[in-house]
Amino acid sequence: MTDFAATKALFHIPDGMIYLDGNSLGPLPKSAPARVARAMTEEWGEMLITGWNKAGWMAKATELGDRVAKLIGAEAGHVVMGDTLSIKVYQALASALEMRPERKVILSDSGNFPSDLYMAEGLIKSLGQGHELRIVAPEEIDAHITEEVAVTLITEVDYRTGRLHDMKALTAKAHSVGALTIWDLAHTAGATDVKLAEAGADFAVGCTYKYLNGGPGAPAFIYVAPAHADTVRPALSGWLGHEAPFAFDLGYRAGAGIERMRVGTPPILALASLDAALDAWEGVDMGDLRARSQELTQLFLQELERRCPMLTLASPRDPAQRGSQISFRFEQGYPAMQALIARGVIGDFRAPDIMRFGFTPLFVDANDVLRACDVIEEVMRGGLWDRPEYHARAAVT
Ligand SMILES: *Cc1c(COP(=O)(O)O)cnc(C)c1O
Repeated sequence: MTDFAATKALFHIPDGMIYLDGNSLGPLPKSAPARVARAMTEEWGEMLITGWNKAGWMAKATELGDRVAKLIGAEAGHVVMGDTLSIKVYQALASALEMRPERKVILSDSGNFPSDLYMAEGLIKSLGQGHELRIVAPEEIDAHITEEVAVTLITEVDYRTGRLHDMKALTAKAHSVGALTIWDLAHTAGATDVKLAEAGADFAVGCTYKYLNGGPGAPAFIYVAPAHADTVRPALSGWLGHEAPFAFDLGYRAGAGIERMRVGTPPILALASLDAALDAWEGVDMGDLRARSQELTQLFLQELERRCPMLTLASPRDPAQRGSQISFRFEQGYPAMQALIARGVIGDFRAPDIMRFGFTPLFVDANDVLRACDVIEEVMRGGLWDRPEYHARAAVT
C-alpha cells in the first residue's frame, strides 16, 4: 500500500492553507530548492560548458521522460521532455496529419482546453491543405469517429468539469476506422492510472507543472508509440532532434525514435526541479492513487451537496467517469472563490461560472477535505463572498 502520509510530508504547503489547486500548479517539493541550487552552483557554476557531459545534462530530457513514462503506463524509451504543452500538441498533430495525408478532419471536443484547439487552428492555416478542426460535444466524440477523421485530439479529462474520456474505447474505435489518436494528459498524468500502452494510444502529450509538481512553466512531455517512433517526421526539426546534432550537417536527418521529438536546448534548471518532484512518486502505486483520489472526491462531493444546496454539481457523479477534481457551478463563482482563497482554501475559477477543486492524493487527505468543506459551507451559507474586493478580477483566475 502506498504511504500517502509519507508523500504529504514531502511537500511544502504554507501554514493554514488547504491547497485544492494542484491541478493548476502543484506545490513545491521540499527537496526541489536544494536540487536546483546544486544544479546551479555545483553544475552550472563549477562545470560550466562541461556540464553537458559531466553532469549528464544532455541525457536529462529522455532520462526524466522514462520517469514520467512509468506514471502514464508508457513503454520505456518513448517519452521525452521539453518545451511547453502547447508546442507538444503542435508537434504531435503535425506528425499525425502527415501519417494520414488523404484525410482532412481533426476531431476534438468542446471540453478541450482552448490552447490545444488554437494550436490546431494555427497548424491548419500554416499547412494550407484544407484541413478541418471538427469540434463536437464531449459525449458525442465516439459517434463522430468516422473514416473522414485523420486524428482525434482529445484531452482525457475536461479541465472544467473533470469528465473523463474512455481512452481505451475511443482509441480502439479510432483504429477501427483507420484514424490516429493524440491524448492530452494535462489533467491525468499524476492524477489517474493512465495506461497508454495498454490503450494503444498513438501519441500523448502533457505538462508537468500540474499534478506532477515540476514548478511553474516546467517542461512538457511527448509520447510516441513504438509502432510510429522511428517513422514519424518531426515538424519542429530542431538540431537536438537531429540524428547527430554535433556533426552540424547542413541537412536534417531525424534522430532515433523519441529523440527526434526533441527540439532545442533542454531547460536544465527546470528539469532539476522536476527531477526532485518525480522523487515523490517513488513507491506510489498508481492504482492506489486512483482509489485514494476517488475517495477524496467522493467525500468532498457528498459533504458539499449536503451542506451547500446553492452549488450545482458540474462533474460526473460516478467517480469512474471523472478525473481527480470536483467542479460546481455557481453564478457568483468568481467572488465566491476569492472569498475561499482569502480564508486559505485554494481552488480556482473557470469562466463562466465554474468553481474548481483539485484533489491530489500525494498531499491532500480526508482531514483537509473536511476542513475545506467547513470553510466553504461558512462562506456559501453566510453569503460572505458578496464584498467588493472579491468581485475585482485579477489577470490570472
Ligand atoms: C494546462 C493545459 C495546457 C497549457 O499549455 P502550456 O503550453 O503548458 O501553457 C494545454 N492544454 C491543456 C489540455 C491543459 O490542461
